[in-house]
Amino acid sequence: MILCRTIAELKNELIQIKQSNDQATIGLVPTMGFLHEGHASLMRQSAEENTASVLSIFVNPLQFGPNEDFERYPRDEARDLAIAKENGIDIVFMPDVKEMYPSKPRTSVIVSQLTERLCGASRPGHFDGVGLVVSKLFHLVQPDRAYFGMKDAQQLAVIQQMTDDLNIPVEIIPCPIVREPDGLALSSRNVYLSAEQRQQAVVLSQSLSLAKEWVKERGMTSEDLIARVKAKISEAGQAEIDYVEWLTYPTLELPAGNEPIANHKGKYILALAVKFGSTRLIDNALFVPNTEVN
Ligand code: AMP
Repeated sequence: MILCRTIAELKNELIQIKQSNDQATIGLVPTMGFLHEGHASLMRQSAEENTASVLSIFVNPLQFGPNEDFERYPRDEARDLAIAKENGIDIVFMPDVKEMYPSKPRTSVIVSQLTERLCGASRPGHFDGVGLVVSKLFHLVQPDRAYFGMKDAQQLAVIQQMTDDLNIPVEIIPCPIVREPDGLALSSRNVYLSAEQRQQAVVLSQSLSLAKEWVKERGMTSEDLIARVKAKISEAGQAEIDYVEWLTYPTLELPAGNEPIANHKGKYILALAVKFGSTRLIDNALFVPNTEVN
């Protein structure tokens, strides 16, 4: 496995791969590091499906708001490199901020509509930062496939839209959410939780599991479902709900009217964001009313 800290080193490695095999396919796994089993599952899938896999580790300042956790975002380079190596990565691209943004970028990548709700509403500018850095990574690595977790379902929808709109020649591969044994979705931010908050955080996945039963109840509407999910989450004393929403997926629109969920056509997402102290956690589940898909 090769570690590249500069774009020049990365380009050189990619050229060598293509020179030794002009049919080589490249998989890209973009991350912010502090890797866990969720990231590892993406790496393994990339390693299985491609000749070579690139893992990018970059805590992108542009996707953090002024009062968010950019400065204290957890970092552990040595551990990340060991995990990357164990999970089939060939190249780790770990640039610093100056390498990615030698000067203030004047170009914006703004995906409209899909970014208006959920984390787009709670974190203004977040997806503009994500769009810019992911499009830069796509241009730098020119991957055949790029792997993203369904944990960040809105991010996946935004990146798929950006890729389609700009005809970027990459296949976006959605990967399932990896969870702790008690159901908590793995996240680099889980380390911020106190022991008590960690115990309470299981309420996110619990409320999604309950919702899978509740949607089957006759006459259940999205308003009723959201109210029940909010009530369940509020049982956790330290939970502060940011949003609970039921939207079409991947178009992220409100369902028309307040029809019972049984009458909803197509795919829906139940998306949650909940704060425990200063730690904000997200989770979601997909539904095709009458058939559970996630
Ligand atoms: P991050 O480092 O948090 O920006 O995440 C990098 C990639 O890993 C994103 O595509 C995430 O959706 C994905 N990811 C993070 N946590 C999980 C998880 N628990 N299961 C699956 N994918 C995940």
